[in-house]
Amino acid sequence: MLSRSIFKRLSKNLLSPRVQARVQTRNLAIHECYSHDILRKYGVDVPRGAVARTGDEAEKVAHNLKTDDLVIKAQVLAGGRGKGHFDTGLKGGVRIIYDPIEAKMFADQMIGHRLITKQTGAAGKPCNMVYVCERKYIRKEYYFAILMDRQNKCPVIVASSQGGVNIEAVAAENPSAILQRLVPNKPTLDTRIAKELVDELGVSPQCKAQAVDTITKLYKVFNDTDATQVEINPMAETTDQRVLCMDAKLKFDDNALFRHKDLLALRDESQEDPDEIRASRCGLNFIKLDGSIGCLVNGAGLAMATMDIIKLHGGEPANFLDVGGSANAEAIREAFGLIVKDPKITAIFVNIFGGIVRCDVIAQGLISVVSSMKLNIPIIARLQGTNQEAAKEVIANSGLRIFSFDELDEAASKACRFSRVVEMAREADVHVNFELPL
Ligand code: ADP
Ligand code: MG
Repeated sequence: MLSRSIFKRLSKNLLSPRVQARVQTRNLAIHECYSHDILRKYGVDVPRGAVARTGDEAEKVAHNLKTDDLVIKAQVLAGGRGKGHFDTGLKGGVRIIYDPIEAKMFADQMIGHRLITKQTGAAGKPCNMVYVCERKYIRKEYYFAILMDRQNKCPVIVASSQGGVNIEAVAAENPSAILQRLVPNKPTLDTRIAKELVDELGVSPQCKAQAVDTITKLYKVFNDTDATQVEINPMAETTDQRVLCMDAKLKFDDNALFRHKDLLALRDESQEDPDEIRASRCGLNFIKLDGSIGCLVNGAGLAMATMDIIKLHGGEPANFLDVGGSANAEAIREAFGLIVKDPKITAIFVNIFGGIVRCDVIAQGLISVVSSMKLNIPIIARLQGTNQEAAKEVIANSGLRIFSFDELDEAASKACRFSRVVEMAREADVHVNFELPL
């Protein structure tokens, strides 16, 4: 059992909100061009444009748009494309261009390369297609988003008259410029609320009616598609007094995708982490994090608590990994495979609760996996529940260097201590033998 003081400290949510959000929600995100297609279907105004997968296609699309005022946009699932750069050095994932030949030229330089933005990390994301659109002349840029507010169990509209590429800076430096409004969980948005928002944002009088109409339709998209996010940045007022959704980032609730097969078909796995995809195919819930202690746990709640207690003892979890209820040898083998791929790993903490599945069976699975892998990483195991004593005996008799503990606190503290030893040894280039078997 956890001591009372530890329980109190755990309940303070030691994991950062970013990590918690990643672990708790796995929402499908789709490319801007597909988001625009959905908005068009709902009668929302977006720039004319089409997607291209080669330079020649980009030239054709540009030609068909019958204008020399064009924009070419890298389709990668990340914000901040405009200010990003490609691994080739090419600047900008959003470029203004003036003729179809330029569309081909830029498409050739974008497709097949990785775009690095503030949101992608240093590795960037692959650009496999571009979106060629007509260029619109923007007079004013707004930020407009409808999000599902999990805490309040209703949608929240977040909007600002200072939209565009620097919305993060506005949020940090001038939060009062961002308005937030919880709205009732209904299929349609009350026109009164839409009108109030448009007034508060200071939309120009000529654009007000269309802005109200756009916001109402965006809400309908949000509701009909079970979205968790409809983010338009910028929502623009153009010089010809139109309201246009220039950029759109839509995300959908994974739990509702069974009724949106058409949306599921828009998933682009090239934008996701290959290990996380492999894990989900094996029924594992796996998310990579920045730390060094690999965690292998059954049950999402226990996984969160394990990560929290590691942090409490000064360690950093390298991943969230829920092997599911059965925790059989196959799942454990896959899980170990994923964990040890990460060169940062300094310890593996196995924290399994044996309910219907018995601890001694799990221990045997663990031993068979560990003995077949040549690991020089300390393994700390806490197997609690049905047949836990037998499990301990199995581990003790295995001759393997698996460190077994009963208490979560002690096990986590040892995992952190071993991890530090390995870290220090690596820094000093000293060999500490955790190799298995003994
Ligand atoms: P990101 O948010 O990923 O940087 P955006 O689509 O928002 O990408 O594009 C960045 C900026 O480029 C926008 O804020 C807008 O000013 C400009 N822009 C985008 N699309 C168009 C367009 N069709 N016409 C004119 N300007 C555009
Ligand atoms: Mg944008």
